[in-house]
Amino acid sequence: MLLEIKGLGKTYGTGPTATHAVGDVSFSVDEGEFVCVVGPSGCGKTTLLKCIGGLLRPSAGEVLLRGSPVTGPPERMALVFQEYSRSLMPWMSVRSNVLLPLRHKKLSKRERTSLVEDALGAVGLTRFMDRYPWQLSGGMQQRVAIARALAYQPSILLMDEPFASVDAQTRGDLEDLVLQVRDEFGITILFVTHDIDESVYLSDRVVVLTHSPTEVKELIPVELPKPRDQIATKAEPDFAQLRAHVYRLIKREQDVQGVVAPQAVEVAEAEAAVPPGGTAV
Ligand code: ADP
Ligand code: MG
Repeated sequence: MLLEIKGLGKTYGTGPTATHAVGDVSFSVDEGEFVCVVGPSGCGKTTLLKCIGGLLRPSAGEVLLRGSPVTGPPERMALVFQEYSRSLMPWMSVRSNVLLPLRHKKLSKRERTSLVEDALGAVGLTRFMDRYPWQLSGGMQQRVAIARALAYQPSILLMDEPFASVDAQTRGDLEDLVLQVRDEFGITILFVTHDIDESVYLSDRVVVLTHSPTEVKELIPVELPKPRDQIATKAEPDFAQLRAHVYRLIKREQDVQGVVAPQAVEVAEAEAAVPPGGTAV
């Protein structure tokens, strides 16, 4: 067991204005596993991930990484967030951005250079090492953020809706890139998304969360054949079944919350027939 989340709870503030973001969450992640966490918007996914990454102190429960309690950002853990444009330094070249978190590691100059170049090579950006982030597209900037996380040589990578602000085509490419680097670097990935298709496509296991204060609603193993393929995998009857199942679980959560989403009609239709394309909740 690489990561264990035990009875984790997080409340922001105290008294009548307190927000109970995370109720009681327990699950574990095995070495090399790809686990997606999916849940309704605002249910506490980011809060949960920040607690797991040691960026926020939980109000209850604990997080264990290889059996040791996480009390601050662990050495072998890296994070990638949605807002890549805010996480990259615009005045630094791509190469320097990737090098940044390595500054505090005891490494020779040659080791650093090779880690940076290997990571940028793995995400297909070798030719863009001396450009600046603002000279790159959104998808390429997010690849820089992924390279930066890889160069850090994490044993576990936490990703919070990393592809939420790129177009559908780029998103598919980035999903496949992440699966590829997972295999290549043998990294364990915990990936938060509100996109049901994405959660099923990427994972070995999906953790479905309830509305806020969130709890684990269901843990769903995904045994689709590997390597995954944007067309073949999504054409599998099992894929359609899994996504419909996750969809129903989340829709029930939204109904409990009394959410009358603009996509209510779309959701009703999805119950009857699973529509193609991305399914955001
Ligand atoms: P998600 O990522 O699932 O959309 P979040 O973890 O961002 O959900 O938020 C869960 C709940 O906690 C929301 O009600 C949100 O308003 C609240 N929240 C998030 N961050 C803070 C904060 N720093 N202070 C107070 N409340 C917060
Ligand atoms: Mg979030």
